[in-house]
Amino acid sequence: MRVTSTETAGSDPVIVVGAGVAGLACALDLAAAGRPVRVLEAQDGVGGRMRTDLVDGFRLDRGFQVFNTAYPQVKRRLELRALRLRPFTPGFLLAGRQGNHRVTDPTRRPRQAAEALRGGALPLRDLAALGLLTARDALAPPSLLRHGRDVATDRALAGAGVSDRTVESVLGPFLAGVFLEDGLETSSRVFHLVWRSMLRGTLCLPEAGIGAVPEQLAAGLAPGTVACGAPVAEVRADGVVLADGSVLRARAVVVATGPAAAARLLPGFAPVPTRSVTTYYHAAARSPLPEPTLVVDADRAVLNTVVLSEVVPGCSPDGRALVATSVLDGAAGEAFARGRAGELYGVDAADWQFLARYRIDGALPAMPAPHPLIRTSRWQSGLYVCGDHRATGSVQGAMASGARAARELLADLAGGSAR
Ligand SMILES: Cc1cc2nc3c(=O)[nH]c(=O)nc-3n(C[C@H](O)[C@H](O)[C@H](O)COP(=O)(O)OP(=O)(O)OC[C@H]3O[C@@H](n4cnc5c(N)ncnc54)[C@H](O)[C@@H]3O)c2cc1C
Repeated sequence: MRVTSTETAGSDPVIVVGAGVAGLACALDLAAAGRPVRVLEAQDGVGGRMRTDLVDGFRLDRGFQVFNTAYPQVKRRLELRALRLRPFTPGFLLAGRQGNHRVTDPTRRPRQAAEALRGGALPLRDLAALGLLTARDALAPPSLLRHGRDVATDRALAGAGVSDRTVESVLGPFLAGVFLEDGLETSSRVFHLVWRSMLRGTLCLPEAGIGAVPEQLAAGLAPGTVACGAPVAEVRADGVVLADGSVLRARAVVVATGPAAAARLLPGFAPVPTRSVTTYYHAAARSPLPEPTLVVDADRAVLNTVVLSEVVPGCSPDGRALVATSVLDGAAGEAFARGRAGELYGVDAADWQFLARYRIDGALPAMPAPHPLIRTSRWQSGLYVCGDHRATGSVQGAMASGARAARELLADLAGGSAR
């Protein structure tokens, strides 16, 4: 869409650059406060890192991700029924050289927890230590977790009494898929908050794919608010310059892009280290695991694999199974990922049809300890910044950061300190 400058100075809108969930949340709060707002998005649709493609009739998310119903921003903003959410089995299946083990939240699946114990997935001492940690994270007020001592997650787990062996062989492989790093360097505060949200919520996927989440947010804005195909080349306190050279005046500008684009647009914005992931999608004639369960690779050859059509049957057009396999290192090729997924399911995957590969650079910001859980959006007079890189790398973090930007901007406008 070509955007033209029609506003007069008196009615200049706030311009939000980027229609990911952070920018959309920010725009929704500004609009709810009665501020004219315009969202400019470089891509051909909203959603940023949360988009879904149709490939040969299969619905593929741009990188496998899950949706968590426990996030406070999710509860606040989204009509969950309309998303027609399909749940994963609580917990995960740990597969590898040492056999297969179910790892589950004992409060939801007590029988399976007992099986895990008998099956030797976790020694009794570790089960007790994890049980205590889990009970605390699930029941403690979030403020306690937010203000706890911040160390690397591996140190926090050791401090909670979980043995190196269990960290290495059970929690490490699972959390590598959550934080997209396999050194467990991620901030323990972030870990405890994510662990809490997993315990309290349902991990699921919208029937129409993860892209349905930002689409629902965008539908809450007045028609015409979001302009797609409108890359911003330059931002100033009084407006933006689009890549095609046109200039739009603004009352204030919120940069709600990922961190790499923010570093290009904002003077003095330091680069943010990020994590990458690659997801391979395959179609299989038969489902290799007839249940909606995440399979985690205990040997870390891949991160995890899941039969998505068991979670959301409609993501396959013709009854074939849709399998998503994610790897940390993009160098692991399609044949490797397919072969390893076959081993984890215990099937021959030679005839699986390769559908697509999504390498997502900058999928998540790195969050080593100490990690500030949320940072101010105020950049310069009239210029604001938000996105998951200003909070935590999650849907919750992105939307909370967008909400903060709206709050700070509205307060500045009310106090006369924005332009
Ligand atoms: C593969 C993968 C798995 C994930 N798994 C999970 C998970 O399981 N749970 C979870 O909570 N989170 C997960 N996440 C993280 C979550 O998706 C992100 O934290 C969140 O979507 C970030 O939103 P954002 O609005 O901050 O940024 P983005 O989604 O990156 O949005 C930024 C927007 O700005 C636009 N933009 C950039 N430059 C310009 C410009 N110059 N002009 C105009 N527009 C511009 C971009 O096109 C983009 O639309 C995952 C992410 C990925 C990629």
